[in-house]
Amino acid sequence: MSLTIETTLGPLPKERLGRINAHEHLFIDSGQIVVKEPDFRLDSVDCAIKDVVDWREAGGGAIVDTMPVSSGRNVGKLIKVSEATGIPVIVASGFHKGAFYWPDHWRGHYSEDELTELIAAEVEQGCDLNEYQGPIVKRCRVKAGAMKVAGNCNHLDDITRRLIRVIGRVHQRTGCPVFAHTESGLECFEIVQRLNDAGVPSARILICHMDRNADYWLHRKLARTGVLLEYDTPSRFKYQPECVVIRLMREMIDGGFLDRLTLGGDLARRSYLKSYGGGPGYAYLLTHFTARLREEGFSEHELNAIWIDNPFRWLAGTPS
Ligand SMILES: [Zn+2]
Repeated sequence: MSLTIETTLGPLPKERLGRINAHEHLFIDSGQIVVKEPDFRLDSVDCAIKDVVDWREAGGGAIVDTMPVSSGRNVGKLIKVSEATGIPVIVASGFHKGAFYWPDHWRGHYSEDELTELIAAEVEQGCDLNEYQGPIVKRCRVKAGAMKVAGNCNHLDDITRRLIRVIGRVHQRTGCPVFAHTESGLECFEIVQRLNDAGVPSARILICHMDRNADYWLHRKLARTGVLLEYDTPSRFKYQPECVVIRLMREMIDGGFLDRLTLGGDLARRSYLKSYGGGPGYAYLLTHFTARLREEGFSEHELNAIWIDNPFRWLAGTPS
């Protein structure tokens, strides 16, 4: 149980985190994905600062940067953005899906003991500024505040099952919360089950991207396991119109699951960010989507739960 959260600006209390963007991407600047898909390359500190200032001016607080070590994360740049803007970033460790790593990446052939020590060190001692790209490890003062696991669509492969066991061991040792990338299919249930089996309680698990499969029956079933859900399709109309996620959010709240909902931007492309010449930018979720939620009858109590209380409870492991 901790009342402060590890961020790029040190351990901070709830009041200092404010409205938390539960799934965002400030940098992706190495790894296979940025070579194969250049639109994913988010490498400019100046650009990140511009979009984060917009987010702050719109009333935004802390941001969970969801790139884990060695998959395109850049802790040094995250620290620079926080120092320039005053916005704290929760840095992730753990593991992304395979497409983000070069073939033969170390996560596939180190032992579970070795992987456990590597990830635990990021949580307990500080993140590696060299992103475990080796050979030298250069730990900074910023500790990882969350850990990622990533499923495959409708199933989990052997490596993912192994990495989930590793993350469970680190959680048992450190209490660090866990979030899961999903391909919005039925793999979410196996992820929750395997994390539970590995010692991670549901209240410390955030299941991401599930609104891409906006099926209330599925979401209710998932919420009943005790996990939190993160929705991030607003502004990304290629997935669905916003009315779909708004209807789902209302159904979840009416079903008694207000305390399970969080929102994120997941704007992991240059074309999504104003500073790179695209849009809508991180601030949209507050300036447009939250404004629409108010118009659609969402109360301040509901909005505060979604933006402030729920993500904090997931991060801190506290009851409130
Ligand atoms: Zn993402």
